[in-house]
Amino acid sequence: MSFTLAIVGRPNVGKSTLFNRLVGKKLALVDDQPGVTRDLREGEARLADLRFTVIDTAGLEDATDDSLQGRMRRLTERAVEMADICLFMIDARAGVTPLDEMFAEILRKKSANVILAANKGEGAAADAGVIEAYNLGLGEPIRLSAEHGEGLNDLYTQLMPLADQFEAQAVRDTPEVDVDLDEDDDEDDESYTVPVPTSAKPLQVAVVGRPNAGKSTLINQILGEERLLTGPEAGITRDAISLRMEWGGVPMRIFDTAGMRKKAKVQEKLEKLSVSDGLRAVKFAEVVVVLLDAEIPFEQQDLRIADLAEREGRAVVIAVNKWDIEEEKQDKLRDLKESFARLLPQLRGAPLITVSAKTGRGLDRLQEAIMRAHDVWNRRVPTAALNRWLVGMLEQHPPPAPQGKRIKLRYMTQAKTRPPGFVVMCSHPDKMPESYKRYLVNGLRQDFDMPGSPIRLTLRSQN
Ligand code: GDP
Ligand code: GDP
Repeated sequence: MSFTLAIVGRPNVGKSTLFNRLVGKKLALVDDQPGVTRDLREGEARLADLRFTVIDTAGLEDATDDSLQGRMRRLTERAVEMADICLFMIDARAGVTPLDEMFAEILRKKSANVILAANKGEGAAADAGVIEAYNLGLGEPIRLSAEHGEGLNDLYTQLMPLADQFEAQAVRDTPEVDVDLDEDDDEDDESYTVPVPTSAKPLQVAVVGRPNAGKSTLINQILGEERLLTGPEAGITRDAISLRMEWGGVPMRIFDTAGMRKKAKVQEKLEKLSVSDGLRAVKFAEVVVVLLDAEIPFEQQDLRIADLAEREGRAVVIAVNKWDIEEEKQDKLRDLKESFARLLPQLRGAPLITVSAKTGRGLDRLQEAIMRAHDVWNRRVPTAALNRWLVGMLEQHPPPAPQGKRIKLRYMTQAKTRPPGFVVMCSHPDKMPESYKRYLVNGLRQDFDMPGSPIRLTLRSQN
Protein backbone atom coordinates (compact mmCIF):
# COMPACT_ATOMS: atom_id res chain seq x y z
CA MET A 1 0.00 0.00 0.00
CA SER A 2 1.63 3.11 -1.13
CA PHE A 3 -0.23 5.99 0.50
CA THR A 4 -3.36 6.95 2.38
CA LEU A 5 -5.97 9.36 1.12
CA ALA A 6 -8.59 10.83 3.45
CA ILE A 7 -11.80 12.17 1.95
CA VAL A 8 -12.99 15.10 4.05
CA GLY A 9 -15.74 17.66 3.76
CA ARG A 10 -18.99 18.67 5.36
CA PRO A 11 -21.87 16.17 5.43
CA ASN A 12 -23.76 15.28 2.28
CA VAL A 13 -21.26 16.57 -0.27
CA GLY A 14 -20.73 13.02 -1.61
CA LYS A 15 -17.73 11.64 0.28
CA SER A 16 -19.15 8.16 0.77
CA THR A 17 -20.26 8.03 -2.84
CA LEU A 18 -16.69 8.66 -3.95
CA PHE A 19 -15.37 6.20 -1.37
CA ASN A 20 -17.66 3.50 -2.75
CA ARG A 21 -16.57 4.23 -6.26
CA LEU A 22 -12.86 4.01 -5.36
CA VAL A 23 -13.22 0.89 -3.23
CA GLY A 24 -15.63 -0.73 -5.61
CA LYS A 25 -17.68 -2.46 -2.95
CA LYS A 26 -20.65 -1.33 -0.96
CA LEU A 27 -18.53 -0.68 2.07
CA ALA A 28 -19.60 2.78 3.02
CA LEU A 29 -23.24 3.53 3.57
CA VAL A 30 -24.76 6.25 1.47
CA ASP A 31 -27.75 8.09 2.76
CA ASP A 32 -29.50 11.36 2.21
CA GLN A 33 -29.57 12.03 5.94
CA PRO A 34 -26.59 14.21 6.84
CA GLY A 35 -24.06 12.52 9.05
CA VAL A 36 -24.90 8.86 8.49
CA THR A 37 -21.25 7.96 8.07
CA ARG A 38 -20.01 8.88 11.47
CA ASP A 39 -16.76 7.05 11.88
CA LEU A 40 -13.54 6.70 10.03
CA ARG A 41 -13.71 3.88 7.57
CA GLU A 42 -10.90 2.46 5.52
CA GLY A 43 -10.86 0.64 2.23
CA GLU A 44 -8.40 -0.47 -0.38
CA ALA A 45 -8.89 1.82 -3.35
CA ARG A 46 -8.07 1.38 -7.01
CA LEU A 47 -7.90 4.14 -9.54
CA ALA A 48 -6.47 2.97 -12.85
CA ASP A 49 -3.05 1.57 -11.89
CA LEU A 50 -2.97 3.30 -8.50
CA ARG A 51 -3.55 1.26 -5.35
CA PHE A 52 -3.96 3.10 -2.07
CA THR A 53 -5.79 3.20 1.23
CA VAL A 54 -8.76 5.51 1.36
CA ILE A 55 -10.35 6.82 4.54
CA ASP A 56 -13.92 8.04 4.53
CA THR A 57 -14.51 10.51 7.33
CA ALA A 58 -17.37 11.85 9.26
CA GLY A 59 -18.62 15.23 8.16
CA LEU A 60 -16.56 18.16 9.31
CA GLU A 61 -18.86 20.05 11.65
CA ASP A 62 -18.41 23.51 13.02
CA ALA A 63 -19.59 22.66 16.53
CA THR A 64 -16.87 23.13 19.12
CA ASP A 65 -18.74 21.96 22.21
CA ASP A 66 -18.72 18.40 23.41
CA SER A 67 -21.70 17.47 21.29
CA LEU A 68 -21.62 14.59 18.88
CA GLN A 69 -20.77 17.02 16.10
CA GLY A 70 -17.79 18.39 17.97
CA ARG A 71 -16.49 14.91 18.54
CA MET A 72 -16.98 14.06 14.89
CA ARG A 73 -14.94 17.04 13.92
CA ARG A 74 -12.08 15.97 16.16
CA LEU A 75 -12.32 12.52 14.65
CA THR A 76 -11.89 14.05 11.23
CA GLU A 77 -8.88 16.01 12.36
CA ARG A 78 -7.36 12.71 13.37
CA ALA A 79 -8.02 11.37 9.87
CA VAL A 80 -6.23 14.36 8.43
CA GLU A 81 -3.23 13.56 10.61
CA MET A 82 -3.28 9.91 9.63
CA ALA A 83 -3.50 10.51 5.91
CA ASP A 84 -0.75 11.37 3.47
CA ILE A 85 -3.12 13.23 1.18
CA CYS A 86 -6.48 14.89 1.86
CA LEU A 87 -9.19 15.15 -0.70
CA PHE A 88 -11.34 18.07 0.39
CA MET A 89 -14.78 17.86 -1.15
CA ILE A 90 -17.36 20.57 -1.57
CA ASP A 91 -20.78 20.46 -3.20
CA ALA A 92 -20.50 22.48 -6.43
CA ARG A 93 -24.26 22.84 -6.66
CA ALA A 94 -24.47 24.42 -3.25
CA GLY A 95 -21.40 26.59 -3.84
CA VAL A 96 -18.87 27.46 -1.15
CA THR A 97 -20.52 27.73 2.26
CA PRO A 98 -19.06 29.34 5.42
CA LEU A 99 -18.50 25.85 6.78
CA ASP A 100 -16.44 24.93 3.73
CA GLU A 101 -14.35 28.06 4.26
CA MET A 102 -13.74 27.22 7.87
CA PHE A 103 -12.54 23.74 7.07
CA ALA A 104 -10.44 24.93 4.16
CA GLU A 105 -8.65 27.01 6.78
CA ILE A 106 -8.03 23.94 8.96
CA LEU A 107 -6.74 21.97 6.00
CA ARG A 108 -4.38 24.71 4.89
CA LYS A 109 -2.84 24.54 8.35
CA LYS A 110 -2.92 20.79 8.97
CA SER A 111 -2.35 18.96 5.74
CA ALA A 112 0.64 19.20 3.44
CA ASN A 113 -1.14 17.69 0.46
CA VAL A 114 -4.67 18.81 -0.25
CA ILE A 115 -6.60 18.04 -3.39
CA LEU A 116 -9.73 20.10 -3.82
CA ALA A 117 -12.78 18.51 -5.44
CA ALA A 118 -15.99 20.23 -6.44
CA ASN A 119 -18.46 17.36 -6.47
CA LYS A 120 -21.92 17.01 -7.98
CA GLY A 121 -20.20 18.68 -10.91
CA GLU A 122 -22.35 17.18 -13.63
CA GLY A 123 -24.46 19.72 -15.56
CA ALA A 124 -24.53 23.50 -15.77
CA ALA A 125 -25.99 23.91 -12.26
CA ALA A 126 -22.48 23.30 -10.95
CA ASP A 127 -20.63 25.91 -13.05
CA ALA A 128 -20.78 28.76 -10.54
CA GLY A 129 -19.79 26.55 -7.62
CA VAL A 130 -16.71 25.25 -9.44
CA ILE A 131 -15.53 28.79 -10.08
CA GLU A 132 -16.18 29.80 -6.46
CA ALA A 133 -14.02 26.91 -5.32
CA TYR A 134 -10.90 28.66 -6.68
CA ASN A 135 -11.39 31.23 -3.92
CA LEU A 136 -10.68 28.67 -1.21
CA GLY A 137 -6.97 29.09 -1.83
CA LEU A 138 -6.36 25.36 -2.24
CA GLY A 139 -5.42 25.39 -5.88
CA GLU A 140 -7.38 24.35 -8.91
CA PRO A 141 -10.50 22.33 -8.07
CA ILE A 142 -11.22 19.05 -9.78
CA ARG A 143 -14.71 19.03 -11.19
CA LEU A 144 -16.06 15.70 -10.05
CA SER A 145 -19.25 13.74 -10.21
CA ALA A 146 -18.84 10.91 -7.75
CA GLU A 147 -22.26 9.61 -8.62
CA HIS A 148 -21.70 9.48 -12.36
CA GLY A 149 -18.00 8.70 -12.28
CA GLU A 150 -16.95 11.89 -14.04
CA GLY A 151 -13.70 13.71 -13.38
CA LEU A 152 -11.82 10.66 -12.14
CA ASN A 153 -9.18 11.20 -14.84
CA ASP A 154 -8.43 14.59 -13.33
CA LEU A 155 -8.26 13.08 -9.88
CA TYR A 156 -5.80 10.53 -11.22
CA THR A 157 -3.68 13.28 -12.79
CA GLN A 158 -3.43 15.13 -9.48
CA LEU A 159 -2.75 11.98 -7.46
CA MET A 160 -0.03 10.60 -9.73
CA PRO A 161 2.89 12.84 -8.78
CA LEU A 162 2.03 12.52 -5.08
CA ALA A 163 1.71 8.76 -5.42
CA ASP A 164 5.17 8.56 -6.99
CA GLN A 165 6.58 10.47 -4.09
CA PHE A 166 5.05 8.15 -1.44
CA GLU A 167 5.82 5.03 -3.46
CA ALA A 168 9.52 5.86 -3.46
CA GLN A 169 9.34 6.47 0.27
CA ALA A 170 7.50 3.18 0.94
CA VAL A 171 10.15 1.18 -0.89
CA ARG A 172 12.83 2.73 1.27
CA ASP A 173 10.83 2.00 4.43
CA THR A 174 10.23 -1.69 3.77
CA PRO A 175 12.55 -3.88 5.84
CA GLU A 176 13.88 -7.20 4.69
CA VAL A 177 11.60 -9.90 5.94
CA ASP A 178 11.29 -13.57 5.32
CA VAL A 179 7.85 -13.99 3.85
CA ASP A 180 8.58 -17.18 1.96
CA LEU A 181 5.35 -19.12 2.03
CA ASP A 182 6.48 -21.93 -0.24
CA GLU A 183 7.47 -25.33 0.87
CA ASP A 184 11.22 -25.24 0.80
CA ASP A 185 14.24 -27.12 1.86
CA ASP A 186 16.19 -24.93 4.19
CA GLU A 187 18.15 -27.59 6.01
CA ASP A 188 21.16 -25.39 6.50
CA ASP A 189 19.13 -22.43 7.54
CA GLU A 190 19.51 -22.28 11.30
CA SER A 191 18.23 -18.77 11.63
CA TYR A 192 14.86 -17.28 10.86
CA THR A 193 13.67 -13.76 10.45
CA VAL A 194 10.72 -12.38 12.30
CA PRO A 195 9.02 -9.72 10.21
CA VAL A 196 9.36 -6.34 11.79
CA PRO A 197 6.22 -4.25 11.62
CA THR A 198 6.99 -0.84 10.25
CA SER A 199 5.05 2.20 9.29
CA ALA A 200 4.82 0.67 5.84
CA LYS A 201 2.98 -2.31 7.26
CA PRO A 202 1.16 -1.86 10.54
CA LEU A 203 0.33 -4.91 12.61
CA GLN A 204 -3.33 -5.71 11.94
CA VAL A 205 -5.42 -6.39 15.02
CA ALA A 206 -9.15 -7.04 15.30
CA VAL A 207 -10.93 -6.53 18.61
CA VAL A 208 -13.99 -8.78 18.64
CA GLY A 209 -16.51 -9.66 21.29
CA ARG A 210 -20.09 -9.49 22.36
CA PRO A 211 -21.99 -6.22 22.59
CA ASN A 212 -21.00 -4.37 25.76
CA ALA A 213 -17.85 -6.42 26.31
CA GLY A 214 -16.03 -3.08 26.25
CA LYS A 215 -14.47 -2.98 22.79
CA SER A 216 -14.94 0.72 22.24
CA THR A 217 -13.80 1.53 25.78
CA LEU A 218 -10.69 -0.57 25.24
CA ILE A 219 -9.78 1.12 22.00
CA ASN A 220 -10.38 4.56 23.47
CA GLN A 221 -8.19 3.68 26.43
CA ILE A 222 -5.41 2.56 24.10
CA LEU A 223 -5.65 5.74 22.16
CA GLY A 224 -5.60 7.74 25.35
CA GLU A 225 -7.77 10.22 23.60
CA GLU A 226 -11.06 10.23 21.87
CA ARG A 227 -10.69 8.94 18.39
CA LEU A 228 -13.52 6.48 18.47
CA LEU A 229 -17.00 7.52 19.40
CA THR A 230 -18.53 5.91 22.47
CA GLY A 231 -21.56 7.01 24.32
CA PRO A 232 -25.21 6.45 24.89
CA GLU A 233 -26.29 7.08 21.30
CA ALA A 234 -27.67 3.81 19.95
CA GLY A 235 -25.71 2.13 17.22
CA ILE A 236 -23.13 4.84 17.03
CA THR A 237 -20.44 2.54 15.71
CA ARG A 238 -22.25 0.75 13.00
CA ASP A 239 -19.54 -0.95 11.06
CA ALA A 240 -16.13 -2.37 11.42
CA ILE A 241 -13.88 0.60 11.37
CA SER A 242 -10.16 0.61 11.57
CA LEU A 243 -7.84 3.00 13.25
CA ARG A 244 -4.18 3.41 12.68
CA MET A 245 -2.12 4.16 15.72
CA GLU A 246 1.03 3.43 17.60
CA TRP A 247 0.68 1.23 20.65
CA GLY A 248 3.79 0.75 22.73
CA GLY A 249 5.78 2.22 19.86
CA VAL A 250 4.46 -0.35 17.39
CA PRO A 251 2.41 0.80 14.40
CA MET A 252 -0.91 -1.00 14.42
CA ARG A 253 -4.15 -0.99 12.54
CA ILE A 254 -6.92 -1.93 14.91
CA PHE A 255 -10.36 -3.04 13.77
CA ASP A 256 -13.23 -2.40 16.08
CA THR A 257 -15.79 -4.96 15.03
CA ALA A 258 -18.67 -3.19 16.62
CA GLY A 259 -20.55 -4.64 13.66
CA MET A 260 -20.89 -7.84 15.61
CA ARG A 261 -23.04 -6.06 18.12
CA LYS A 262 -26.66 -6.89 17.90
CA LYS A 263 -28.08 -4.08 19.94
CA ALA A 264 -28.05 -1.45 17.22
CA LYS A 265 -31.64 -1.14 16.12
CA VAL A 266 -30.94 0.26 12.71
CA GLN A 267 -32.39 -0.50 9.35
CA GLU A 268 -31.81 -3.92 7.95
CA LYS A 269 -29.45 -2.74 5.25
CA LEU A 270 -27.15 -1.21 7.84
CA GLU A 271 -27.32 -4.33 9.97
CA LYS A 272 -26.41 -6.67 7.13
CA LEU A 273 -23.41 -4.64 6.14
CA SER A 274 -22.35 -4.47 9.77
CA VAL A 275 -22.19 -8.21 10.38
CA SER A 276 -20.18 -8.92 7.27
CA ASP A 277 -17.83 -6.10 8.26
CA GLY A 278 -17.15 -7.91 11.53
CA LEU A 279 -16.29 -11.10 9.73
CA ARG A 280 -14.17 -9.20 7.26
CA ALA A 281 -12.18 -7.71 10.11
CA VAL A 282 -11.33 -11.19 11.39
CA LYS A 283 -10.24 -12.23 7.93
CA PHE A 284 -8.15 -9.13 7.49
CA ALA A 285 -6.52 -9.27 10.91
CA GLU A 286 -3.26 -10.94 11.83
CA VAL A 287 -4.05 -11.05 15.53
CA VAL A 288 -7.61 -11.31 16.87
CA VAL A 289 -8.27 -10.12 20.41
CA VAL A 290 -11.39 -11.86 21.74
CA LEU A 291 -12.65 -9.54 24.43
CA LEU A 292 -14.76 -11.22 27.11
CA ASP A 293 -16.84 -9.66 29.82
CA ALA A 294 -15.57 -11.12 33.12
CA GLU A 295 -19.14 -11.20 34.42
CA ILE A 296 -20.41 -13.35 31.54
CA PRO A 297 -17.39 -15.01 29.94
CA PHE A 298 -17.38 -17.70 27.26
CA GLU A 299 -20.90 -17.18 26.07
CA GLN A 300 -22.03 -18.88 22.88
CA GLN A 301 -21.23 -15.84 20.78
CA ASP A 302 -17.71 -15.55 22.25
CA LEU A 303 -17.04 -19.19 21.48
CA ARG A 304 -18.24 -18.80 17.91
CA ILE A 305 -16.03 -15.79 17.26
CA ALA A 306 -12.99 -17.43 18.84
CA ASP A 307 -13.54 -20.58 16.83
CA LEU A 308 -13.94 -18.58 13.64
CA ALA A 309 -10.65 -16.79 14.29
CA GLU A 310 -8.89 -20.11 14.86
CA ARG A 311 -10.34 -21.64 11.71
CA GLU A 312 -9.26 -18.61 9.74
CA GLY A 313 -5.76 -19.27 11.03
CA ARG A 314 -5.42 -16.03 13.00
CA ALA A 315 -3.30 -15.58 16.09
CA VAL A 316 -5.67 -15.26 19.04
CA VAL A 317 -5.37 -13.48 22.37
CA ILE A 318 -8.16 -13.84 24.93
CA ALA A 319 -8.66 -10.68 26.99
CA VAL A 320 -10.99 -10.80 29.99
CA ASN A 321 -12.33 -7.31 30.59
CA LYS A 322 -13.89 -5.47 33.56
CA TRP A 323 -11.39 -7.10 35.91
CA ASP A 324 -11.65 -3.99 38.10
CA ILE A 325 -15.07 -5.08 39.39
CA GLU A 326 -13.98 -8.65 40.14
CA GLU A 327 -13.67 -9.33 43.86
CA GLU A 328 -12.42 -12.89 44.15
CA LYS A 329 -9.74 -12.48 41.53
CA GLN A 330 -7.77 -15.67 42.30
CA ASP A 331 -10.78 -17.98 42.25
CA LYS A 332 -12.21 -16.27 39.23
CA LEU A 333 -9.00 -16.64 37.26
CA ARG A 334 -8.83 -20.35 38.06
CA ASP A 335 -12.42 -20.79 36.87
CA LEU A 336 -11.72 -18.84 33.70
CA LYS A 337 -8.69 -20.97 32.83
CA GLU A 338 -10.65 -24.12 33.46
CA SER A 339 -13.53 -22.96 31.22
CA PHE A 340 -11.11 -21.84 28.55
CA ALA A 341 -9.39 -25.23 28.41
CA ARG A 342 -12.72 -27.07 28.36
CA LEU A 343 -14.65 -24.87 25.94
CA LEU A 344 -11.93 -23.87 23.50
CA PRO A 345 -9.48 -26.78 23.31
CA GLN A 346 -8.66 -25.77 19.74
CA LEU A 347 -7.10 -22.58 21.15
CA ARG A 348 -4.83 -24.35 23.56
CA GLY A 349 -1.80 -22.21 24.27
CA ALA A 350 -3.50 -18.90 23.48
CA PRO A 351 -2.75 -16.33 26.18
CA LEU A 352 -5.50 -15.27 28.55
CA ILE A 353 -4.98 -11.75 29.86
CA THR A 354 -7.13 -9.96 32.44
CA VAL A 355 -7.65 -6.28 31.76
CA SER A 356 -9.70 -3.28 32.69
CA ALA A 357 -10.47 -1.18 29.66
CA LYS A 358 -11.90 1.39 32.01
CA THR A 359 -8.81 1.91 34.21
CA GLY A 360 -6.17 0.76 31.75
CA ARG A 361 -4.88 -1.99 34.05
CA GLY A 362 -3.36 -4.89 32.16
CA LEU A 363 -3.12 -3.15 28.82
CA ASP A 364 0.67 -3.36 28.76
CA ARG A 365 0.44 -7.10 29.18
CA LEU A 366 -2.20 -7.24 26.48
CA GLN A 367 0.05 -5.35 24.09
CA GLU A 368 2.92 -7.72 24.85
CA ALA A 369 0.69 -10.75 24.29
CA ILE A 370 -0.42 -9.36 20.93
CA MET A 371 3.17 -8.79 19.85
CA ARG A 372 4.20 -12.21 21.00
CA ALA A 373 1.27 -13.95 19.28
CA HIS A 374 2.08 -12.07 16.08
CA ASP A 375 5.69 -13.10 16.39
CA VAL A 376 4.73 -16.76 16.78
CA TRP A 377 2.31 -16.53 13.90
CA ASN A 378 5.21 -15.44 11.71
CA ARG A 379 7.72 -17.89 13.19
CA ARG A 380 9.79 -20.16 11.02
CA VAL A 381 11.50 -23.12 12.62
CA PRO A 382 14.63 -24.27 10.81
CA THR A 383 14.31 -27.70 9.21
CA ALA A 384 17.40 -29.17 10.86
CA ALA A 385 16.15 -28.25 14.34
CA LEU A 386 12.71 -29.66 13.51
CA ASN A 387 14.08 -33.01 12.48
CA ARG A 388 16.32 -33.29 15.52
CA TRP A 389 13.24 -32.58 17.58
CA LEU A 390 11.18 -35.16 15.66
CA VAL A 391 13.71 -37.91 16.44
CA GLY A 392 13.36 -37.14 20.15
CA MET A 393 9.58 -37.15 19.96
CA LEU A 394 9.53 -40.52 18.20
CA GLU A 395 11.83 -42.06 20.77
CA GLN A 396 9.83 -40.75 23.66
CA HIS A 397 6.55 -41.98 22.30
CA PRO A 398 6.73 -44.15 19.18
CA PRO A 399 3.94 -43.84 16.62
CA PRO A 400 1.26 -46.52 16.64
CA ALA A 401 1.33 -49.70 14.62
CA PRO A 402 -2.19 -50.27 13.28
CA GLN A 403 -2.64 -53.86 12.08
CA GLY A 404 0.92 -54.58 13.12
CA LYS A 405 2.42 -52.09 10.66
CA ARG A 406 4.23 -49.27 12.34
CA ILE A 407 3.67 -45.84 10.83
CA LYS A 408 7.03 -44.39 9.94
CA LEU A 409 7.62 -40.66 10.24
CA ARG A 410 10.58 -39.85 8.06
CA TYR A 411 11.05 -36.18 7.71
CA MET A 412 9.49 -32.90 8.66
CA THR A 413 9.59 -29.34 7.38
CA GLN A 414 7.77 -26.08 7.95
CA ALA A 415 5.94 -25.35 4.73
CA LYS A 416 4.42 -22.02 5.64
CA THR A 417 4.01 -19.26 8.19
CA ARG A 418 1.08 -17.01 9.16
CA PRO A 419 0.09 -19.35 10.80
CA PRO A 420 2.91 -21.87 11.05
CA GLY A 421 2.18 -24.96 8.95
CA PHE A 422 4.26 -28.14 9.11
CA VAL A 423 4.42 -31.12 6.80
CA VAL A 424 5.46 -34.58 7.96
CA MET A 425 6.44 -37.18 5.42
CA CYS A 426 5.28 -40.56 6.62
CA SER A 427 4.03 -43.99 5.63
CA HIS A 428 0.26 -44.60 5.86
CA PRO A 429 -0.75 -41.02 6.72
CA ASP A 430 -4.41 -42.04 6.58
CA LYS A 431 -3.88 -44.48 9.46
CA MET A 432 -2.38 -41.88 11.78
CA PRO A 433 -4.67 -41.34 14.79
CA GLU A 434 -5.66 -37.79 15.72
CA SER A 435 -4.17 -38.27 19.17
CA TYR A 436 -0.69 -38.70 17.74
CA LYS A 437 -1.08 -35.58 15.62
CA ARG A 438 -2.11 -33.70 18.75
CA TYR A 439 0.95 -35.08 20.54
CA LEU A 440 3.14 -33.61 17.81
CA VAL A 441 1.33 -30.26 17.64
CA ASN A 442 1.38 -29.81 21.42
CA GLY A 443 5.03 -30.78 21.46
CA LEU A 444 5.84 -28.22 18.77
CA ARG A 445 3.98 -25.57 20.67
CA GLN A 446 5.78 -26.31 23.89
CA ASP A 447 9.28 -27.07 22.70
CA PHE A 448 9.51 -24.22 20.21
CA ASP A 449 7.59 -21.86 22.48
CA MET A 450 4.69 -21.04 20.17
CA PRO A 451 1.68 -19.88 22.20
CA GLY A 452 -1.17 -17.91 20.72
CA SER A 453 -1.14 -19.09 17.14
CA PRO A 454 -2.86 -21.96 15.39
CA ILE A 455 -0.40 -24.61 14.24
CA ARG A 456 -1.28 -26.69 11.20
CA LEU A 457 0.13 -30.16 10.68
CA THR A 458 -0.23 -32.03 7.41
CA LEU A 459 0.82 -35.61 6.78
CA ARG A 460 2.08 -36.62 3.39
CA SER A 461 2.59 -40.09 2.10
CA GLN A 462 6.14 -41.30 1.56
CA ASN A 463 7.08 -44.94 1.88
P1 GDP B 1 -21.35 12.36 2.44
O1 GDP B 1 -22.22 12.69 3.61
O2 GDP B 1 -20.42 13.47 2.12
O3 GDP B 1 -20.63 11.03 2.58
O4 GDP B 1 -22.31 12.26 1.16
P2 GDP B 1 -22.95 10.98 0.43
O5 GDP B 1 -21.92 10.25 -0.35
O6 GDP B 1 -23.75 10.24 1.44
O7 GDP B 1 -23.89 11.72 -0.63
C1 GDP B 1 -24.92 12.59 -0.22
C2 GDP B 1 -25.95 12.67 -1.32
O8 GDP B 1 -25.39 13.29 -2.48
C3 GDP B 1 -26.46 11.32 -1.77
O9 GDP B 1 -27.84 11.43 -2.02
C4 GDP B 1 -25.72 11.07 -3.06
O10 GDP B 1 -26.43 10.25 -3.93
C5 GDP B 1 -25.57 12.48 -3.62
N1 GDP B 1 -24.40 12.60 -4.51
C6 GDP B 1 -23.15 12.13 -4.30
N2 GDP B 1 -22.34 12.42 -5.34
C7 GDP B 1 -23.11 13.09 -6.24
C8 GDP B 1 -22.86 13.65 -7.56
O11 GDP B 1 -21.76 13.56 -8.11
N3 GDP B 1 -23.89 14.27 -8.15
C9 GDP B 1 -25.12 14.36 -7.58
N4 GDP B 1 -26.07 15.00 -8.25
N5 GDP B 1 -25.40 13.83 -6.38
C10 GDP B 1 -24.41 13.20 -5.71
P1 GDP C 1 -18.75 -2.47 23.22
O1 GDP C 1 -20.20 -2.66 22.91
O2 GDP C 1 -18.04 -3.80 23.26
O3 GDP C 1 -18.03 -1.47 22.37
O4 GDP C 1 -18.71 -1.95 24.75
P2 GDP C 1 -18.49 -0.48 25.34
O5 GDP C 1 -17.07 -0.08 25.21
O6 GDP C 1 -19.52 0.42 24.77
O7 GDP C 1 -18.74 -0.77 26.90
C1 GDP C 1 -19.97 -1.28 27.38
C2 GDP C 1 -20.15 -0.88 28.84
O8 GDP C 1 -19.18 -1.53 29.69
C3 GDP C 1 -19.98 0.61 29.07
O9 GDP C 1 -20.93 1.00 30.03
C4 GDP C 1 -18.57 0.72 29.64
O10 GDP C 1 -18.41 1.83 30.49
C5 GDP C 1 -18.44 -0.57 30.43
N1 GDP C 1 -17.05 -1.01 30.54
C6 GDP C 1 -16.18 -1.18 29.52
N2 GDP C 1 -14.98 -1.59 29.99
C7 GDP C 1 -15.08 -1.67 31.34
C8 GDP C 1 -14.16 -2.05 32.40
O11 GDP C 1 -13.00 -2.38 32.20
N3 GDP C 1 -14.65 -2.01 33.67
C9 GDP C 1 -15.94 -1.65 33.94
N4 GDP C 1 -16.30 -1.66 35.21
N5 GDP C 1 -16.82 -1.31 32.98
C10 GDP C 1 -16.40 -1.31 31.69
